Amino acid sequence: MESILLLAHTEPDGSLARPALEALAAAKNLGGPLHIGLVGAQVQPAADRVAGAGAARILAVRGEAFGQPRYATDAAAAEALCRASGAAIVIAPSTSRWSRALPGLAFRLDGRVDTHATALAIENGVPAVTRWFYRQRMEGVLTRSQRPWIILLDAGCVPAWSGAPATAAVETVELAAETRTTVTGTRSPEAGEQTIRPDAKLLFVAGAGWTKKQSDGATHTPEAEKLILDFLRASRASLGGSKSLVDLSGEGEAVLRFMTHLNQIGQTGATPRHPKGLSTCCHGEEPHAVGWRFIGERRAVNLDANCGWARGKADVLYVADAFAVMREVNALLGR
Ligand SMILES: Cc1cc2nc3c(=O)[nH]c(=O)nc-3n(C[C@H](O)[C@H](O)[C@H](O)COP(=O)(O)OP(=O)(O)OC[C@H]3O[C@@H](n4cnc5c(N)ncnc54)[C@H](O)[C@@H]3O)c2cc1C
Repeated sequence: MESILLLAHTEPDGSLARPALEALAAAKNLGGPLHIGLVGAQVQPAADRVAGAGAARILAVRGEAFGQPRYATDAAAAEALCRASGAAIVIAPSTSRWSRALPGLAFRLDGRVDTHATALAIENGVPAVTRWFYRQRMEGVLTRSQRPWIILLDAGCVPAWSGAPATAAVETVELAAETRTTVTGTRSPEAGEQTIRPDAKLLFVAGAGWTKKQSDGATHTPEAEKLILDFLRASRASLGGSKSLVDLSGEGEAVLRFMTHLNQIGQTGATPRHPKGLSTCCHGEEPHAVGWRFIGERRAVNLDANCGWARGKADVLYVADAFAVMREVNALLGR
């Protein structure tokens, strides 16, 4: 087996986030000689965390400038670590930071990059990468002859490596931080309450039905908001939305105020990974349900027994009024 470099950037406190430990597990499963390359302002806590992973060398580019997510310094640090390790296969977690910098790294090293890998394995004696195409409609397995081969592994696909920490020896790779870009801060959309929780056991999806006229001929949006937020607070579920619903929110209409486009699930939205999913007041159209590809067990509540979920897209469809169901669920959770 060819040599492997696990490439990880550290968090502000010097630790490693879970996606990095998942990528480490994937690298170890391949079985070749392993090197670990760390980038960050602080790297010792991360190195200690992975000291028991059996890496031949732990290399690091460190310094304040490398703590900030910035293409110029990230790509340069990754390049220095790849050259120092000489590894043929480079595995990294699909963080926003690496997703931005590593395609450029492949160009610098005259290698190749594959993003959104969901599995790595040895097939016919060579590494093979699994990924999905056409918004998760087709699964492909591919090998490549070009090296170095840089692979970005999506989060949530492999159980994280969990060996015991120890004190690690780190080899510093010296690199001057050359950049014209200064990071002055981060701005994120104002979503009020944090409702997207990638680690939650349950994905709760709200569809446009929550804002539609109900059997009494009136809309009940304030009650919908309260039912959904009470459920999220009690269950710690992650909140997803259908496109129709998040588009309404974007137009500033009197709809669920905590819903943004970041919550959208589907072909033009996200494809999250949760063990279970519960869809409410959402029709289950194909462009929406395709975003449920990686949800383990799917249930839906819809008044319409003929909705999309009834056509093989959900494991269980409750033909019921979601207002009544969620009122009861919240009462049970409150007990
Ligand atoms: C190119 C393209 C890309 C797209 N990408 C996406 C995407 O990424 N994500 C996405 O979601 N959509 C996407 N769509 C849109 C998609 O086709 C649907 O239009 C959308 O998902 C519908 O949203 P909805 O089910 O919330 O709303 P609706 O279709 O309006 O359905 C509302 C549902 O709520 C039910 N309902 C109402 N009241 C209650 C109640 N009290 N209890 C229970 N059920 C109730 C109704 O029976 C109905 O089924 C895309 C479309 C196109 C053309």
